[in-house]
Order: sequence, then structure tokens, then C-alpha cells
Amino acid sequence: MALPHMHPTTSETLTLLVEITRSLHDERPLAVRLQTLFTLLRTTADYRDARLTCWGQAYSAQEQFFSSEDRAIPWDDALMMRIAQNSQAEQRGPDSRGIVYFGAPVRWVDQTWGVFEIRFDDYFPTHVQELALAIIPQLAAAIANEQHRQQHASIIIHSNASVIADPHLSEPQALLLTALGRQLDAPLNLNSLLPLLLRWALDTTRAEAGAICLVDHRHGELVTQVYEGYFVTPDLQNHGRPRWSWNVGLAGQVARSGRAMLVRDITQDPSTRVSGTGIRAELASPISEGGQTLAVLVLDSPRPAAFGESELAFVTALCDRAAQPLRRALVYQESLENSTQLEQVFTGLPTGLALLDVNGYVLRANPSWGQIWGLPIQESRTPFHVPLDLIDALLPRLNEPMHITEFCARGQQSLDEEHTTAIRLKNPTQELRVLSLPSRDSQGVLTGRLWVVSDVTREREVDRLKDEFVSIVSHELRTPLTSILGYTELLLAREFDPADRRQFVQTVYDQATHLSVLVEDLLGISRLDAGKVKLNRWVVAPRQIITELTNQLNAQIERHRVVIRMGESLPPVYIDRDKVKQILFNLLTNAIKYSPEGGEIELRVHDADKGKDLPPDHPRGRWIVISVRDQGIGISREDLERIWKRFYRVDNTNTRRIGGTGLGLSITRSLVELHGGRIWAESKLGEGSVFTFTLPFATDAIVRE
Ligand code: ADP
Repeated sequence: MALPHMHPTTSETLTLLVEITRSLHDERPLAVRLQTLFTLLRTTADYRDARLTCWGQAYSAQEQFFSSEDRAIPWDDALMMRIAQNSQAEQRGPDSRGIVYFGAPVRWVDQTWGVFEIRFDDYFPTHVQELALAIIPQLAAAIANEQHRQQHASIIIHSNASVIADPHLSEPQALLLTALGRQLDAPLNLNSLLPLLLRWALDTTRAEAGAICLVDHRHGELVTQVYEGYFVTPDLQNHGRPRWSWNVGLAGQVARSGRAMLVRDITQDPSTRVSGTGIRAELASPISEGGQTLAVLVLDSPRPAAFGESELAFVTALCDRAAQPLRRALVYQESLENSTQLEQVFTGLPTGLALLDVNGYVLRANPSWGQIWGLPIQESRTPFHVPLDLIDALLPRLNEPMHITEFCARGQQSLDEEHTTAIRLKNPTQELRVLSLPSRDSQGVLTGRLWVVSDVTREREVDRLKDEFVSIVSHELRTPLTSILGYTELLLAREFDPADRRQFVQTVYDQATHLSVLVEDLLGISRLDAGKVKLNRWVVAPRQIITELTNQLNAQIERHRVVIRMGESLPPVYIDRDKVKQILFNLLTNAIKYSPEGGEIELRVHDADKGKDLPPDHPRGRWIVISVRDQGIGISREDLERIWKRFYRVDNTNTRRIGGTGLGLSITRSLVELHGGRIWAESKLGEGSVFTFTLPFATDAIVRE
């Protein structure tokens, strides 16, 4: 049975309110002050239990509960949330257990800071309700104040200027700083200075991990320079230095604000909280010089409150002391990086570069300089004179040795002008383009010349081939066109007897056919060059292709004896039927064209017998070998190399008589190679030729695809 409730007088209630107000606003932690509130409340009413749930704007994700002792019966959080959302007090009960409930939002102006709830065993005294409503604004003020205090207690901010004269730096710390500071003046190099600085910071603060990051103001980023003690360590060698935005983390805040910061427990601080790192305490100090933050030193510990103000004071003082040496090291590092970058460009450039002094001696040259001229390595290194040593080294290869001397003389005559020339070398043929321009020192004084040499052999060859192609094509087109026009003009001009007329018309027809084949071949070549020819592959028995083709060729081969020799059990091939027919057609028509009537033409198809019949550089695998042998005019050894080139036609009385475009073999080779095979020819002048090509076994080719 519950005790009868007391009914205090108004003055008693007011006295209690004063007491509550005073206790809510003293210096103790909020939790302690709330416990006092709960105790004081009990002096006026014997409530069952009470709780305060609070949050704030900055702490929206961080609810805090403060409860009186008795929590045996769970609270209804949904009800509490509803009170907060509706901003309205609620009174309920008694429920089945006889409990009476009162909950009120802790509100001030338009912000809800929390919900205050209180439960009684059977009866809710009105004076408690009045009291509760009276202390609500007090609670709002206490929570707001606590949150403000927490924010500033967890992050202590010092401006660096005030730290220099910081009275908190103890005498041993000051002595240590003087000793360390002197050592900071020695290293010129960033890679010696920063690890030293970090080590001292770690040793003196007993931090478990730490890093120093440079501040990239242009991109608003931090760049890790050195680090120690973290579980995840970046692979600087292969992935470069990690960079991240300065909008992230404590180090970022320090980089932006230029102020040192200490977070005693980052799990309690929403602005710096980083989950999953195991870090609890973090201290970061800027290293600033001339009003600019150059770097940030960060120290971390898994122990909450691992760092205090003493560590903060020492680290900021150490960072201040390190600012000048860091600035110097950065300047040094920048010039080092600049020269490293330039060195990389200089060494890696495929163009030859040489810096000559005023007397023509090479001061510096990159590896390409020696390579392009084809100079022995040591010659490009020892004092080397241009043009004397250059001509000396190149004499057997120079077409016109005087050309280089004259070019150098021009440079000597007009020192501040650019000159360019082309130099041709023989054995092997090479064409070089040389540019010579004045070089100057940092004061702008002339120091000699820079020679830039590029090997333009390939470009020239490509240009030459293109020009040749255009002139051959126009010639090849013009020849049949001229005769077509000539004969048709003749036919139009006057009457001829039927035999002559027939002869003329036949010539026109032949030339038009040639023209059409030529245009067809040219289109074929350009499609092949553009990579537009795609194979439409099928698994086909070789015999089938040969039969189809010989039927097609019947009319042309009647004046020759064609012998077909085909292995009995040939495996199927994986080919584009039309393309393979085109290959065979080209080879057979050549065999017919270039052999006398009645000559034998042998078409042989066989299995490559474990590669024995294949040339040494032939791709591996299983292949069908197809060869076309004739007893015709044959091809000389020199021409055997050239017949694969576009428009190349062996020039003799025989071939001139026999028409052709000189494109067939070039197309044939491309088509064979599209199938993955190879084609080659063997021949003896006057005795005949064999053209052989290979096609992949279906099993092999499909697997390879
Ligand atoms: P063409 O249209 O001139 O026949 P190809 O590219 O097919 O063009 O052949 C190039 C040259 O190779 C021919 O002009 C010819 O001189 C030579 N050639 C090709 N096949 C044979 C062969 N079977 N016998 C002799 N010479 C041949």
C-alpha cells in the first residue's frame, strides 16, 4: 500500500523550485545534476520513477537518458517520441499495474530539447505536475548549456599565436623543445625532416599512431607524407601518396582553420567521429608559416583522453618550431621534384636532345640522342664535339658529310636564330630531322645551342608509299580508260569493217573488265586496311570447297591440266567459304595466267603432319596445307620477296603481255592471315612456282576463338 501523498504549501514548493533551479545550473556534470533533481523531487512526492530523454540540434543522433533508480518496468519509448513530436504533455493511467504516467516535452521557444517523464504508483499529485511544468524551461537551459559545454570541452582550440607564449609549457618541455628545435634546423630534405618530427611528437605524447600531411591549398586536400603506427598503411611506392579532402576529419578542420585541436574522445564528438578505426583520442596541430598552413601533424590513440592540454601545448610549440625548417625543406623539395620531373621527360623522350656549349661540345644529352644517331654509348657520354665527332662517328653512313658542317656554320653565324635541316643516312637508310636553337642561362645569356633530333624515316616512308599508291592507282586507272576512250572515239568517228570493229569492241570490253577488276581489288584492299572485312566462319570439309571452286573455274582451266591431290580423311576446317574460294581463285588464275597452255597445275590439300611441312615461324597448332603448283614462267629469287607488295608486277615481256593489277597476292595474303594462317611461295625461274597456304583445323580454331 502506497504512502498517502503529502501536499506541500506554495512556499514549500517555491523553495523546492529555487533549490532545483540552483542545482540544475551548477558546475557538475549534467548526469549528476539530474540525479540531484530526482532526489529533490522525492522530497515532495513519492514517485515511482522518472527519466529525462534528451537530444539537441547538434546531437540529434545522440540521445541521452537520465533515469531515477527504479527502472523495473520498461518505459514506452514510442509514447515519449510522440510527446516530443506533438510537443504536448500527456497524462495516462492508472494502467493494469495501477501506474500513473505523466510526460512533458522539454521545449524552449521552438526547439524541443528532450522529454521529461515521471510515474507514480496509483495517483498523480497536481502539485508535482505544476512543479514539473515549472522546471521544464530550467531543464531546457541545462541541456542546451551542457551540450554547448561538451562541444567546447571535447575540442580545445588554441590559436598558434597564443600557444607560443603558452604558460602551460612546463620547464622540462621548454628545455626539450629547445634541444629538439636545434636538430630540426639540420635536415634540408623533406624525407628526413618529417619522420624526425613525427617520431618526436609520438615519443613525447606517447601517441600510438601519427601522420604528417602536407596541405594542398589549391585542391583543398591533404596529402599524407609520413605516417606511423596505423593498421592500414598505404602503399606509397605503387599507389602514390594518399590524398583526401580537407572537409573530412580533424586534420581537415585543422588545415582549414589553422588552429590546433584536441579531441579527448572522438566517439563523443559528432564532428570528428570516424567509425571502425579504433581511434579514441586525437590531437592535430597545424605547421604554419607566414599565415599559411603548410602541413598538419596528427596524433592518434586508442585510449580515450590519451592526450591532455599539456600534450597539446607541447605539440603545437613543436610544430611552430618546425615551421621554418619545413618551409625551407618544401622549397628544396619543390626544386628537387621539378628537376626529377624534367629529368624523367628528358630521359624518356623518344626525341634526341643535346645541349651544346658555345664551342659545340655536348654538355648534356639524353639517351635518345645517341640512339637516333646510332652512336656507341660511350661516345655520347664523353666530351663530344658537334660537328667534328659527329661526322667522324657517322662518316661511313653520311650521304653528304659537308651538309652537317654547313648546318653548324649557319648556327654559328646567326647565333640567336633557329635552324632546321634533314640529314639522310645510309646502311640502313634513315632520315633525321634536326632542329638547332639557341640556349640561354637563367640570366638570359646565350650559352650555346640545343639540338633536337627526330627520326622521321617512318613518316617519310609512309608519305612516300602514299604518294606512290596515289600515282600508281591513277596510272592504273588511266591506262585502260585511255584505251577505252580511244577505241570508242575511233568507232564513233567512222565506219570499220566488221572484223576490225569486233576487234575494237573486244579491246574496249577487255579494258573495261580490267578496270572493273582493278576497282574491285582497290575496294577490297581499302576494306582490308580499314579492318572492315569480317569473316563469316563455318565448319567446312575441304573437299566441298575444292569441288565448288573447280566447277566455277571449268571454263578457264580447259586449256590446262589440273590435277587435284587430296588426302583421304581430311578433318574439317573453320573458314569463311567465300574468302577461301577467293584465295584459291586468285592462286589458280595466277597459275593459269603465268603458265603455258597445256601445262600441269596441281592443287594439293593435305594435313600438316605435326607441323613438319610448315615454315619454322608458323603458328603452332594443327593445320591443313593447300598448295597450287604450276609449270609456268616461274619467279626470280629477288621477285619472290616483292610479289606480295601492292601493285608489284614482275616486269618482263611475259607479264606485260599477261594482264593483271598486281593487287591479287596482297589481298590473298591478307585473307589467309585473317584466318590465322600463313602463305608463302617457292619458285624457280622458267620451271614453275608453288604457292602454299595454311588453314586451321576446325577443332583448333574454335577453341582459339
Ligand atoms: P597480278 O594481277 O599481276 O597477277 P598478283 O598480285 O596476283 O597480281 O601477282 C603479282 C605478280 O606476281 C604478278 O604480276 C606476277 O609477276 C607474279 N606471279 C604471281 N603468281 C605467279 C605465278 N604463278 N607464276 C609466275 N609469276 C607469278
